[in-house]
Amino acid sequence: MKKWYAVIGDPIAHSLSPFMHEIWFQENDIEASFLPIHVEPSKLKQACEALQLLGASGFNVTLPHKQAIIPLLDGIDDTAAKMNAVNTVVRNGKSFKGSNTDGDGFVQSLLTADPKLDSRVLLVGAGGAARGISFALKRAGFEDVTITNRTYRRAEELAEETGSKKLTKAEAEQNLDGFDIIIQTTSVGLAEDEALPISLEKVRKGTLAADIVYNPIDTPFLKKAEEKGCKTLNGVGMFVYQGAIGFEKWTGVKPDTEKMIQVITEKLGGNYVNR
Ligand code: NAP
Repeated sequence: MKKWYAVIGDPIAHSLSPFMHEIWFQENDIEASFLPIHVEPSKLKQACEALQLLGASGFNVTLPHKQAIIPLLDGIDDTAAKMNAVNTVVRNGKSFKGSNTDGDGFVQSLLTADPKLDSRVLLVGAGGAARGISFALKRAGFEDVTITNRTYRRAEELAEETGSKKLTKAEAEQNLDGFDIIIQTTSVGLAEDEALPISLEKVRKGTLAADIVYNPIDTPFLKKAEEKGCKTLNGVGMFVYQGAIGFEKWTGVKPDTEKMIQVITEKLGGNYVNR
């Protein structure tokens, strides 16, 4: 039987995962399809049972189900347990195991910008994605990580768990010139006219500014960072690498990430720059 995979979320129409995985199946001569499935929160349990019954070989989980899916699975790996969130589910026989590839996906994207491991890193945000990224940064060897967040208590908690430093938003803004890398992980930026989650007035020229939001591709944070003379990294790389790690878990094949970053960038109306 032809294998099939899916992404579940609410909303789901905007997801680029089906587009990306279908291309990778074709490029690698894998007979499989990938479906976007709209699942409302109240239907998550039934949807998970249906995916099991109908033989899905694996699926992605996006907002708002990344935490709620956990008790419905047969198990989760260490990364997903630390993040308390699942974005990738792999079938093993009759069981579904959850994993989370967001943090490692971001770090793989960051590494394409060739950062030094002793960089002083500021992580803006303390939500689900920031959680994964902060653990993955530590695993990759970035020791000097500081977390700031609108709700300071969440920054304190995450800093405590990951052995990072923490600053209030005002303190971070005041000391911004002390950072080599600033990573924007909040949901701010999805709407073009939103205020920045952190003021970049004091940012140093040459600082690497990374945003994990990828649609729009040129977020207000990245536009401001460019104006201030920063190097920038948009969220497309993270999206592609988190997907590629999942694709390899499902199929055993490493897909072409470089070409996909170009394809997705152009699909979103951006200009692809080969590094
Ligand atoms: P989340 O768990 O809901 O966390 C949201 C974060 O944004 C929290 O730190 C929250 O601060 C902050 N925030 C929200 N509104 C804010 C505002 N007006 N001002 C300042 N901070 C604000 O969301 P998530 O799952 O971490 O996702 C965050 C973003 O990452 C989303 O846009 C998502 O699409 C994107 N993402 C991208 C990829 C990719 O592949 N590129 C992967 C995963 C996620 P409080 O704690 O104060 O509420």
